[in-house]
Amino acid sequence: MNKIRHIAFGYSTRCNIKCDHCVAADDKSPNAKMPFDTAKAIIEEMAGCNVTGISFTAGEPLLFLNDINHLIGMCRKHGIYSRVVTNGHWAGNRQRSDNMVSELRQSGLSQLRISCSRWHQKNIDRENIVNAVSSCKKYGLDYFISFVTDFSKQDDAFEQFLRDNSFKFFPEPLIYSGRAKGFNGSGVFTDYPPNLCAMNPYLTPELDMFACCDAGTHFTETGFFYLGNHKDHSIDELLQKKEKNILYDLIRTMGLTNMASYIGFKASEIVKYRKCQLCEKLFNSAGNLRVLENSVKSGLINWTR
Ligand code: SF4
Ligand code: SF4
Repeated sequence: MNKIRHIAFGYSTRCNIKCDHCVAADDKSPNAKMPFDTAKAIIEEMAGCNVTGISFTAGEPLLFLNDINHLIGMCRKHGIYSRVVTNGHWAGNRQRSDNMVSELRQSGLSQLRISCSRWHQKNIDRENIVNAVSSCKKYGLDYFISFVTDFSKQDDAFEQFLRDNSFKFFPEPLIYSGRAKGFNGSGVFTDYPPNLCAMNPYLTPELDMFACCDAGTHFTETGFFYLGNHKDHSIDELLQKKEKNILYDLIRTMGLTNMASYIGFKASEIVKYRKCQLCEKLFNSAGNLRVLENSVKSGLINWTR
């Protein structure tokens, strides 16, 4: 079972831009925010149950800079690795960028994850990325750029920009969920990838916890990834629910491809789905979920080479 306890912490879903591809924003509650005192109590609770990494995410966390700085400071006090995911709106000039990064560094932030894509950059100037990275280097703050892409030719210029600047970046596949659900993705060729997933839980501002921090929060037909609400369960109870679920563990270790094959998906069909789409076929369908749940302790768990 996965005992690594890393959390995606959704302090607020509020964002100052509206990317066309956003999977995180829930249009029903775009401005939800966790009460600050609740967030502080939850970080204390997480520290007491072996959470070792917290990624502040959801909307744009740095819209609440004072609060986030305080929460980062609590993480530092408890030896919890902290990361902030940001769109870099605050890096419009060198001075503002330096001020922000030095403040985050002083609070104890471990790493900054800066989003970059052709969708983000409709709202945020590319120069902000340059300023933000420059400030990270100046103040010794670890960073990386999350380069969200659908692998189309349109993104080549963005990748070249990142390469030309020698930035540390990692391509992140666009997730066809949330606002990107209707996007038309095609033209990607791969072999037969295992489709593993790290399975880091996501805590929403409303204190709901999900076993998946991305598209799985939208699996409303079965609620497969929903673990419960913190008003009814402790953080430890919610995390234990995640850790005791064999199917979640198999997503992490066996991968979705083998699970799909096990229940009868043809290989030629499996390769047509992206990871989260395949996941949705398996777990947001009551019928498929029932088959997987019924077979998890017998055939499925032994479906290995
Ligand atoms: S910056 Fe992030 S949270 Fe905000 S709209 Fe864009 S993808 Fe969504
Ligand atoms: S593949 Fe499934 S578990 Fe992984 S991010 Fe997508 S929806 Fe979540």
